[in-house]
Amino acid sequence: MTPGGVNSPVRAFHSVGGTPRFMVRGEGAYLWDADDNRYVDLVSSWGPMINGHAHPDVVRAVQETASHGLSFGTPGAGEIDLAQEIIDRVEPVEQVRLVNSGTEATMSAVRLARGFTGRQKIVKFAGCYHGHVDALLASAGSGVATLGLPTSPGVTGAQAADTIVLPYNDLEALRQVFAEQGDEIACVITEAAAGNMGTVAPLPGFNEGLREITRAAGALLIMDEVMTGFRVSRAGWFGIDGVAGDLYTFGKVMSGGLPAAAFGGRSDVMARLAPSGPVYQAGTLSGNPVAVASGLANLRAADADTYAALDRNSKRLGDLLGSALTAEGVPHQIAYAANMVSVFFSENPVHNYEQAQAQQTWRFPPFFHELLDRGVYAPPSAFESWFVNAAMDDAAFETIADALPHAARAAAAATAPEATE
Ligand SMILES: *Cc1c(COP(=O)(O)O)cnc(C)c1O
Repeated sequence: MTPGGVNSPVRAFHSVGGTPRFMVRGEGAYLWDADDNRYVDLVSSWGPMINGHAHPDVVRAVQETASHGLSFGTPGAGEIDLAQEIIDRVEPVEQVRLVNSGTEATMSAVRLARGFTGRQKIVKFAGCYHGHVDALLASAGSGVATLGLPTSPGVTGAQAADTIVLPYNDLEALRQVFAEQGDEIACVITEAAAGNMGTVAPLPGFNEGLREITRAAGALLIMDEVMTGFRVSRAGWFGIDGVAGDLYTFGKVMSGGLPAAAFGGRSDVMARLAPSGPVYQAGTLSGNPVAVASGLANLRAADADTYAALDRNSKRLGDLLGSALTAEGVPHQIAYAANMVSVFFSENPVHNYEQAQAQQTWRFPPFFHELLDRGVYAPPSAFESWFVNAAMDDAAFETIADALPHAARAAAAATAPEATE
């Protein structure tokens, strides 16, 4: 009925084997499947649910707003409030346009950067995922990494020709490209901290370097904060390293779990967007009142205590993961970028996609399934970040702590597949 049985490839158990669980209910830190099995949720809908599932404020906002009608195709007050909340939190963002998905946000931001600069080329980093935009699928992370695709059929040479792909955390490579063709480059797009090849933090000075190099060349810097935005701090990754992009993309947390996303940034750049400028961008359901109410309630519920809980919970999860794997002698790295965390089955620290791909991915499926069988829902891929939420309590961590030794033993017992020549 549906290709691969899923509406987004990352939900499939393609790389871990078995059958995906059909979830029917979520509350706080837990999900329940159709057979009424309970799981501690370490996916959090791939990011949005920082306050846990079915947070009362978010559910109430959605119910109340929906009772007044679902969509009007006119401006509405909620859109202004959500834009204001984003602007208040992220200083470099002066104007916001709402869209329906992170993919739309990055696609629109790249178009705007090209329209603003009058240049064609763009730079992205291998292992970063910016949604399934044609020009941004080359060496992409997330499901593209999980399925081991270099890029996607269906993307034409012309669509990809202006995309330059460089290794993440390698400023020297970027300097060289800018020295050769800097006056043709419209923008550099980066995940403010990479979370789609597993968690890979920018090395000290990397984001600063992107800022300096792009500014000197008259190119724009697009900080893709669809994953990090409003999760790693109140102000997203900008709140962690303070490096200002010209444009920002947001999604996930700012939607509260309904389809909503945004891009924004410098007002002189945003002013080039239709109808105030000539760069076209639109959406029938953009700024949908129910989605906007959900996002606004999710952000308003995320206060200082929430961020303290997210930080605490990710550290607690990382510590548990690390000690269980150490106890079984499994080579591993617990990688953090603020409160995002993931596991690499690797002897060496991971700073780029090549190093992420070199991990012992074959240890992951048995590790994953032991956790799943014991009520812990981890992301079904060795190339994804694990998402904690603020609703996790001691009982949730006990479930994780009880499951992990079994999972670590399974990872230790896993054997490398025979090399096929
Ligand atoms: C999830 C994600 C996207 C794509 O967002 P969708 O809403 O899935 O289209 C883009 N960029 C980053 C960094 C993401 O994590």
